Parts: sequence; C-alpha cells; structure tokens
Amino acid sequence: PLMREHFISNPPDVTKLKARLNANENPYGPPASAKQAVVDSVVLGNRYAWKELSDLVGKIVKKEGPGVTPNHIMMGPGSSDLLEKVALVQFMHGGNIVSADPCYMSLVSVAKSVGAKWKAVPCKSDWSHDLPAMEAAIDADTKLVYICNPNNPTGSITSGKELLDFCSRVSEKVPVFIDEAYLELAEGTGTQSMVSLLGQNKNVIIARTFSKIMGMAGLRVGYIAALPSFLDKIQNITRGGMGISYTSVLAASASIEDMEFQTMTKKLNSETKAYLYSNLDRMNYKYIPSYTNFVIFPIAMDGKDFLGKMYAKGIGVRTFDIQKKTWCRVSMGTMDEMKLFVKALEEIS
Ligand code: PLP
Repeated sequence: PLMREHFISNPPDVTKLKARLNANENPYGPPASAKQAVVDSVVLGNRYAWKELSDLVGKIVKKEGPGVTPNHIMMGPGSSDLLEKVALVQFMHGGNIVSADPCYMSLVSVAKSVGAKWKAVPCKSDWSHDLPAMEAAIDADTKLVYICNPNNPTGSITSGKELLDFCSRVSEKVPVFIDEAYLELAEGTGTQSMVSLLGQNKNVIIARTFSKIMGMAGLRVGYIAALPSFLDKIQNITRGGMGISYTSVLAASASIEDMEFQTMTKKLNSETKAYLYSNLDRMNYKYIPSYTNFVIFPIAMDGKDFLGKMYAKGIGVRTFDIQKKTWCRVSMGTMDEMKLFVKALEEIS
C-alpha cells in the first residue's frame, strides 16, 4: 500500500471548529424539505417504515432509469453499511480484492479483516484508474473488483467510456463494485454512471449515498443497485434497510425530489472550488483537478505538523502520504470557511 493517513493524538472537538473541512460533507444541508420531513414524521417513530421505505425505493428506481427495478435496490444507513456488508459476505470464505491505490478504504479494510488479500494497483500519473493493470491483476481467487469513481482521496475521475468497456468485460468474470458517492457532483465530459450496465444483466454493483449532494451525512441513507441474484446472496445473510430510522427514510424521500437543493449544492460547490483553485494557483500549490467536493494537493510539511497547525486555527482537514509525497485534502465548505482555510494556509506555509 502506498497511501497512509496522518492522525494526531489529541484532535480537537470537531463540532467546535470554525471550518469543518475534513469529511467531505455538504455545508448547505440538510435541505429544508428534509428537515420538515423529519419533524413531520417523528410522531410515527413507534412504527416500522416498511411502506415508506418501499416508496423511497420507487423514487430511486425512477431516478436510476431503465433496467433498474425495486429488486435491484438494497438500502442501508449510509452507503458505508452496504460497502461493509458486501465485503463481509463476499470475502467470508477468503479470496482477493482488486482495487486502486489510493482509493476509499472502507470496503477493502473490511475485506482484509475477514481474511481477503488486497491486490492494490497504483493509479496512473493522472490519478485515474490503471484499468489494464487492474484487469491483469484479476486471478481465479478474485472475488470482487472495487472502483471508486470519482476517487477519494484524490478527487480524480476515470473516463466513463473506458470504464464502461472495462466493467462490461470484467463483470463477466468477477463482480465489479463501482462506488459513485461523488458522481452527482462530477462536472465535465467523461463522467458517467455505470448503472446502465444492469440493464444488460452485467454483474456490477453501484453504490450511492444521500450524504454528499443531498446533504444528509448525519441522517444516514444510502443504497446499492445490483443484479437481484447478487443481492439475494447478500440479503440471505444480512437484511437491507432495517438500519434506517423512520425519520431518515422520509428525509431521503424529500431530498431525492428536491432538485432545487441539489442544483444549488452543485453551483456553490463549483464556485467555492474555483475560489480555492485560484488561491492555490497564486500560492503555487499543484492540486489534482477535482470532480468532487474536495481537493487534494501536496504540501512541503510533515502531515501531523500541518494538521496540528490547521487545528490550532480552528480548521479541520486531512493529510495523507501518497506516492512519496505528503498531501492535504480539504473539503469544500461555505465560501466563508474557504476564506478561513486560504488565510490559514498562507499563514502556516
Ligand atoms: N464512498 C466514498 C467514496 C466516500 O467518500 C464515502 C464517505 O465519505 C462513503 C462511501 C460513505 O458514505 P456514507 O456511509 O455516508 O454513505
């Protein structure tokens, strides 16, 4: 593994920070529509939300488009739950997992902890997935390929066309899991969901979350779209949807239809990112172009020292060692938060 995250021993209380730029959250959420839904539904908290959950699945199916039916959807309290469940079931009898390095580590970590071997394939120099190398890494013991697109912590994209060919071909041999947590925020050509492959009966699993564009990280709703035969295997062992509270089901149901909020999030996210880019350019930081709500760039300082200095100024970010450099990953906050970050960066460097 080429990626390592830095942690300091006494991190401050994040709720007291002036700028919470450490967890790729949506600073504008939850949408007013979701807040109202929580208030209105709290009195029904003595009931199970089965009917409301199936109504939410109906809206998801409509959003995902042709080829996706309610039987293609498994719900969870955030997509983390589903990343972990898939890892547990898929690797309970061993095997190996192929993914990029760096990538988002939830699924890989759980797979490793139940005994899977991790076959890590370094990203290319533009930080996209090295798809030919990943395909070459697959062997008879490979139980899953994990792709995070756009990727975290790099924010980089792998071209949709190339990825579609890869998933279409590789999923004939082994299931391909595509984590699209940030896809709705990805702007520009080359971004494309892999969900259309389900209409062609391909063994792909697409993960999505209400935590990012919908602004509901703390309300916890996510889902995977996959072949019913794949989901049967997971749901034989562990049920979907039971971990989501009544209020969160209703909040998600309101958010998914709140296009105004989603459009506003995208707009403000591009504006704050443009502001950050222009300041990083001015200070000569060479960031990776981001297709998400966070940006990563190399820093000339020890990662722990950097975290400590940022925390001292009331700002939360993350630092990593990746391919022999130290990097700061900063999430997009409000414009005021980004101004605080830029000022702090100037002062400490
Ligand atoms: N996948 C990726 C790539 C993420 O970055 C995150 C969270 O940051 C998640 C999944 C998990 O999000 P959640 O459990 O909130 O849906």
